[in-house]
Amino acid sequence: MPAAEELRAKLNEIREKCLTCKKCSLCETRHNIVFEDGIPNQKLMLIGEAPGFYEDQQGKPFVGKAGQLLDRIFASVGLSRDKDVYICNTLKCRPPDNRNPLPDEKEACWEYLKAQIEIIKPKIILLCGNVAVQSILGNVGGITRIRGNWYKPENAIVDVYGAKMMPIFHPSYLLRNDTREKGGPKWLMWQDIQEIKREYDKL
Ligand code: SF4
Repeated sequence: MPAAEELRAKLNEIREKCLTCKKCSLCETRHNIVFEDGIPNQKLMLIGEAPGFYEDQQGKPFVGKAGQLLDRIFASVGLSRDKDVYICNTLKCRPPDNRNPLPDEKEACWEYLKAQIEIIKPKIILLCGNVAVQSILGNVGGITRIRGNWYKPENAIVDVYGAKMMPIFHPSYLLRNDTREKGGPKWLMWQDIQEIKREYDKL
């Protein structure tokens, strides 16, 4: 297993490329690239959608209320982005007005996400929201129907280097659907994170 410093050096190389990337028009409106957060933990990676307003301002994924909720979800099972999980997005630059990424933007940015997966080779990948799911698993259905299910590496439409994957709700969705009643999105998210922790502990 490569040392943390080796992973960090390889990731920094890719990050440097993103800093000057002009492969799609999002480079014209971004304030910062949003490359990663957390640590290059080879057990657990979370892939989100695309940077929003605060992420673009701060250059860091999952900040603001959605990021705080994600941190609370991890903390509920004793995980933290500071020591247990590597976090990145499908796109590294913010789509204007937080619109969904366009197919050509996802295609242009795939090289960087691919490199992140290839360098880290995580055992578990959490696909956070529909955009991440479509990028890695293709059209397997909406997040409400498929969340909480494990997918094998061979289910992916791209090489995930042996990772098992679970689609999960995006925390922004949970903020918009705040009910905690049994069977609701937040309740389901808490079931999913417990299942994820059980798998994490087996690694
Ligand atoms: S979104 Fe990705 S491909 Fe497009 S400019 Fe940013 S880093 Fe480059």
